[in-house]
Amino acid sequence: MTEEATESKEPVSRRRPVIVDPEFKHKVLREPGGESLRRCFQCGTCTAGCIIAQYSDEYQGPRKMIRMVQLGLVEDLISSSEIWVCSKCHSCTEVCPQGVSPADILNAVRRIAAKEKHIPHAYRQIVDTVLEDGWLLEDSYSDFIEDDRDDMGLETELNWNKKFVERIKKKYFPEAEE
Ligand code: SF4
Ligand code: SF4
Repeated sequence: MTEEATESKEPVSRRRPVIVDPEFKHKVLREPGGESLRRCFQCGTCTAGCIIAQYSDEYQGPRKMIRMVQLGLVEDLISSSEIWVCSKCHSCTEVCPQGVSPADILNAVRRIAAKEKHIPHAYRQIVDTVLEDGWLLEDSYSDFIEDDRDDMGLETELNWNKKFVERIKKKYFPEAEE
């Protein structure tokens, strides 16, 4: 029984069934960076060394998420905001006595989540802005161009970036094409 289920005050009959996918850990193992998953023995050293876990009440650290991968709690994990809170600082990787890279495992989980379209709204907005304008902060680039690029003999035409983004859109986001 999971910690969450133990702490729940809801009557058993009203609780949502936990979806377990035994294949999920194999999916993560196949992703680049996911290979070290099988060496984790759940000591918790990574979470003790995680700076985000130390300062956040909501982020419980990499050990718990790795356990969720091992148990196949796919839906709960990929729909969770916790996987996106990790700052990728790799402190966890440095302290793990088993040579596991929790940071890379979380990268693998985020990639799987993104493929399943579980992407935080703020990140979607960033991608939409870049796909729409070709830039995240077009004004700041324009200012930079006016102030410096010309003096430095660099390309001052912003359209070169828009052409590049059009190519990316065509290849990776065909549904965004008009
Ligand atoms: S990833 Fe390493 S430090 Fe973290 S729980 Fe597993 S074995 Fe321990
Ligand atoms: S990489 Fe992520 S999980 Fe690892 S210590 Fe940094 S914030 Fe924590």
